[in-house]
Amino acid sequence: MDKGVLYIVAMPIGNRADITDRAKEVLAAVDCIAVEDTRHSRPLLKSLGITTPLMAVHEHNETKLVARLIERLQAGESLALISDAGTPLISDPGFPLVRACQQAGVRVSPVPGPSAAICALSAAGLPTDRFLFEGFPARTSSARCEQFDRLKSEAMTLIFYESSHRIAESLADMAKVFGGDRHAVIARELTKLHETILSQPLDQLCQVLAEDSNQRRGEFVVLIAGAVRDSDAIDPETQRILEILLEEMPTKKAAAIASKITGIKKNRLYPFALTLKVE
Ligand code: SAM
Repeated sequence: MDKGVLYIVAMPIGNRADITDRAKEVLAAVDCIAVEDTRHSRPLLKSLGITTPLMAVHEHNETKLVARLIERLQAGESLALISDAGTPLISDPGFPLVRACQQAGVRVSPVPGPSAAICALSAAGLPTDRFLFEGFPARTSSARCEQFDRLKSEAMTLIFYESSHRIAESLADMAKVFGGDRHAVIARELTKLHETILSQPLDQLCQVLAEDSNQRRGEFVVLIAGAVRDSDAIDPETQRILEILLEEMPTKKAAAIASKITGIKKNRLYPFALTLKVE
C-alpha cells in the first residue's frame, strides 16, 4: 500500500457481494478509514474481516477535520474514505477533503465500484450518451418546481436521487413541470431484494405510487427522458415506420431498424419509440 495516499473507496449500494477485491485489500491495509457513520460501517467492515481503525467524517465535522487529515497524510499515513453506500462524494461527504488534498499536493487515488446513479442509468433503457446528474431535488415544492423548470428543455437524460419521504411529492412536481407524458424511470432498491425498475410516463408513475405503498418504500433513483427539441421532432413518416416495427419486435431493435431506414440516429429514435410503446 502506497504511503501518504487518500484512497476514495466505493462501497456496495445494497448487495454486500458488490464490494470489489481491491476495495477490501485497500481497506484492510490503510492506517485509518474515514467513514460517515461508524455504527453503520463497523458491522459491514467487521463482516469482511477488516479491523482497521475508523474515524467519523461527516458533513458536520468534515471541514474542521480536513487540516488534521492532511497532516496525517503528509506524515506518511495512508487513509481511505468511504460512504455508507456507493461512491464517496456523489451526494455524500468528501469534497472539501479531496480538494484540500489536491491543493496540498497529497495523492488521491480512486478505488471504483457501485454508484446508484450509474447503476440505475445502466438498466433504465434511456439514452446514456449524455446525462445530467442533479443529486437530490430541492426539499420544498416551490424550490423543486423552479429547479425542474430550469431543466425542462434539457435534452440530456436527467438523473435524480430521492428518499422515500419525498418520492411521491417530487414525482408529482416532476409531472407538473416536465409534463405527465414525459417518459421517466424509477429505479428502486437497486441490487436489493425488492429491486424494481418502472419505466412509464410520469403521470402513470405517480398513479402506481399512489396505488401501491410498497412502491414508495426504500431508496430511489429517478431518471427523466431528455426533452425532444422542436428541431429534433420526429416526423410523421418516421413515427409510422416505428409504429409498424414496434408491433413486430422489441423497442431497441425497432429503433435500430428505423434508424437504418431513415438515417436518424438510433439514440434519438429509441426514447421516442418508448413513448409510442406506452401509448
Ligand atoms: N454515494 C451514493 C452513490 O454513489 O450512489 C449516494 C449517496 S446518497 C446520500 C443516497 C441516495 O442514493 C439514496 O437516497 C437514493 O436516492 C440513492 N441510492 C442509494 N442506494 C440506492 C439503491 N440501492 N437503489 C436506489 N437508489 C439508491
